[in-house]
Amino acid sequence: MNDRMTNLNPLEEMAAAGHERVCYHYDEATGLRAIIAVHSTALGNALGGCRRWCYAHENDALFDVLRLSEGMTWKAACAGLAMGGAKSVIMLPKRDTPITPDEAHAMGRFIDTLSGTYIGAEDVGVSPEFTDWMLETTNHVMGGTGEGQGGDPSPHTAMGVIYGMQASLRRIGQDQFAGLTVAIQGLGSVGTHLARLLHERGAELVVADTSQAKVDHVVNAYHAKAVSCDEILKTECDILAPCALGAVFDEASIPGIQAKIICGASNNVLRDPDADAQRIHEHGVLYAPDFVVNAGGLIHLAGLYLGYTTQQLQDTIARIEDTTMTIFEMADDHPTTGHAALALARQRVEAGRTAQEGINAC
Ligand code: NAD
Repeated sequence: MNDRMTNLNPLEEMAAAGHERVCYHYDEATGLRAIIAVHSTALGNALGGCRRWCYAHENDALFDVLRLSEGMTWKAACAGLAMGGAKSVIMLPKRDTPITPDEAHAMGRFIDTLSGTYIGAEDVGVSPEFTDWMLETTNHVMGGTGEGQGGDPSPHTAMGVIYGMQASLRRIGQDQFAGLTVAIQGLGSVGTHLARLLHERGAELVVADTSQAKVDHVVNAYHAKAVSCDEILKTECDILAPCALGAVFDEASIPGIQAKIICGASNNVLRDPDADAQRIHEHGVLYAPDFVVNAGGLIHLAGLYLGYTTQQLQDTIARIEDTTMTIFEMADDHPTTGHAALALARQRVEAGRTAQEGINAC
């Protein structure tokens, strides 16, 4: 934990990033300790994942939930959803604490106290089973296995990344995947679906994962070429798709990139959003902002919650292509594509806030 986190003042931190509400919860019966952070409801109620993690210090959990919930506001706004931004974290007493129905029920009760302002979903450490259990104590959760709950968002996230890639290709004067090489870092839920979609479109694949079994599956199923996890970011390719971890692009990794485009599913891929977006730009690589192109899963779950039809869900995910293109065009007047994406999101949130104030004044 750095000094800033040790000295974190919750109200100051909330105010600095414009959070509306941060709620702490302790459940005596189960020992559950959790935080829900609602960053913005300017565009509507806010859907965001619930992360289960063993944090070294309570302030680490606060820092994480503030950062993640703010990111959800920008993601939902760029996706064109009538949704705000929020997230929750469960502070585990020790690593690998097994999930239990009691813990999930307690978290569901906590979520329920916000009466739908916050809608929970899956994130790191939360399974569809856990989501189903939360649903036994609140209606304000999406992503469970039941009818209309949306299930696993990964195939929709992968489809959204394809739309982001299509916009990126158009931007550099290409119009098809056939004959191009795409390097995928991480073959988990999203990366494997992405490999399938790209293979169907005729792209050549170069892949890496820390799990040999996942690599073997994609090599066999989609004729991919495997490289080591150390090589994947430096692979010569048309598109580099980070689908593993955050913070993979920084001062050390950016100079080695040999891709024309970066477009993938991982959240927060830039270690320093300002400086690294600038470095990527100066390195001559087109960066499709992560929170724009990885919104397919959010659109699927939020859209179902909002009552979208199947056609509306598909159309909204497909709109990622136009939004990505708009951001590339806006980037002519901003330092980088990352800055342009944030500017678009802020414009939409501001418009939502103005509309809300208008309604309240009536
Ligand atoms: P996942 O956990 O299923 O897959 C991640 C994969 O990355 C795993 O197979 C893991 O073995 C691999 N990996 C870990 N370290 C690696 C390394 N150094 N090099 C190569 N591979 C490595 O996660 P996921 O659901 O597929 O999500 C992938 C990324 O996309 C995550 O950053 C996630 O936050 C983000 N994301 C996912 C969704 C979704 O719908 N699942 C939506 C938005 C964003």
